[in-house]
Amino acid sequence: EKNLSSDLKIAREKKPLGIEEVAKKLSIPHDALERYGAFKAKISWEYLKELFCRPRRGKLVLVTATTPTPAGEGKTTTAIGLTDGLSRLGQKAALCLREPSMGPVFGAKGAATGSGLAQLIPREEINLHFTGDFAAVAAAHNLLAALIDNHLYHGNDLGIDPRKISWGRVVDINDRALRKILVGLESKKSFPRFSFFDIVAASEVMAILCLAQSYKDLRQRIADICIGRGRDDKNIDAEELGAAGAMSVLLVHAFKPNLVQTLENNPAFVHGGPFGNIAHGCSSVVSLNAALRLADWVVTEAGFGSDLGGEKFVNIVCRQSGLKPDCAVIVTTVRALKFHGGMTLDCLNQRDLYSLEKGFPNLLRHIQIVEEVLGIPAVVALNRFSADSGEEIDWLGKRLGSLGYPFAVCNHWAQGGEGAVELARRVLERSRQLNCKLNFTYADGDPLIKKIEKIALNVYKAGSIALHPHAQEEIRVIERQGLDQLPVCMAKTQYSFSVDPRLRGAPEGHELFVRELRVAAGAKYILVLCGEINTMPGLPKVPASSSMDIDEEGKVIGTI
Ligand code: ADP
Ligand code: MG
Repeated sequence: EKNLSSDLKIAREKKPLGIEEVAKKLSIPHDALERYGAFKAKISWEYLKELFCRPRRGKLVLVTATTPTPAGEGKTTTAIGLTDGLSRLGQKAALCLREPSMGPVFGAKGAATGSGLAQLIPREEINLHFTGDFAAVAAAHNLLAALIDNHLYHGNDLGIDPRKISWGRVVDINDRALRKILVGLESKKSFPRFSFFDIVAASEVMAILCLAQSYKDLRQRIADICIGRGRDDKNIDAEELGAAGAMSVLLVHAFKPNLVQTLENNPAFVHGGPFGNIAHGCSSVVSLNAALRLADWVVTEAGFGSDLGGEKFVNIVCRQSGLKPDCAVIVTTVRALKFHGGMTLDCLNQRDLYSLEKGFPNLLRHIQIVEEVLGIPAVVALNRFSADSGEEIDWLGKRLGSLGYPFAVCNHWAQGGEGAVELARRVLERSRQLNCKLNFTYADGDPLIKKIEKIALNVYKAGSIALHPHAQEEIRVIERQGLDQLPVCMAKTQYSFSVDPRLRGAPEGHELFVRELRVAAGAKYILVLCGEINTMPGLPKVPASSSMDIDEEGKVIGTI
């Protein structure tokens, strides 16, 4: 047998349905499909336009999680399992997920299309290049970068201050050597200056693709991108540079949602991929807007814990789009809670009720954020790993039961949709019992510093915030420009409620250090970089790429 990971083997053995058959489950007509091979398609804009005139009829389930440990807790896997589980209960269900980035695919985390019997197919294609949307986003982003340097070269009529250019370049590979670069070294007429690369998942163009609701909106947001400032501190945007039209041209196809399927042939829209730590972390609003008109239940994932993707889904996505989740699922694992209780990574397979109890406050904090701070009814999903002991699972179930929180043990990894039927039932019950209040954590009119402070104190349970002098100065400039009414997109380590990734569990009273602010006028938020968080990840010593290859038929082998 070939050297295939078990996930890839499972994904390969399953023959997908033709994409027309998958579309039929949501009553999407054939002529609304733009096919990319037999198993992937984009949805045409003519059809989407027609859909958007109908009311949103589906219920929305937001999948979030406890604070991640280095391996990931299984949000994506659980979102897929839940969609299959809802479908087994006879519900018309659809999934909306982000597209995998090749950064993590080749880095530490690996593929992002689920695992075991809860997966999306075709696995390798979705994880690598897919329908080319990431390449389109990168091209649009880098075209703008090239036009900026070209503008300087040809005389700088707009008076851009080369030291105040905030637009860098992007690539969809983890490449720490590009975090800080020197550009413009080639000729006497160019302006040598420091610049930087971000990963594509952190590009403002990616955020725009995921937040825009129409081509008109997309075009306007691209026009509004602020590339830097002139000598008088006036913002200079993509429209003034004459870049917005061509950037939009590059995004025409990327803007249309992609349809694929789960292993159980249920429809999945996979579209857009901002990371949850350094961007807003949610798949496209267009795909959610389409799915909510086609299905009774729509399951979507927000990146990392409820303090990151969860908070940003509410304060950015819902605020901008009017969307409202009906229920949230908080995914956790016995292993993660033991890790938060102080266990080391290599010991997590051992039964340890003491560490489990010690790590439990991390889960409680996430329940509190989702239900009380954000106002969304929640169900806890325990994503079962084969090493979990019955005692550990019982303890968790009893503890949550005594506190009155709905809880389901999920086994979709081993059993497919059948293993998530109990979770699906809990979700149906919870969203029937309780209404989502949807509390925004701050008001549009709050001063910028207040917005940051409210998130720090209410969501992260920080005791105080500290600002780098540059961040302080930037806040003043943003206020002068009147852009302080925008929401904030917090960029923070995913591994802790604090800015220190080593501080596990449920720390309180820590200090939130704000290092830098960036105006994202097109995405319509202010990016707030906290602690040491970096917008270009690096690769680990032994990256996932080291175990990938092809065979003589050109098929991918190894671990993907
Ligand atoms: P997240 O979306 O939270 O980052 P994923 O669903 O992508 O997490 O899962 C991360 C990885 O964890 C998967 O690729 C898989 O290797 C592993 N995994 C998830 N759930 C299980 C499970 N129940 N049993 C074994 N491995 C799992
Ligand atoms: Mg995920």
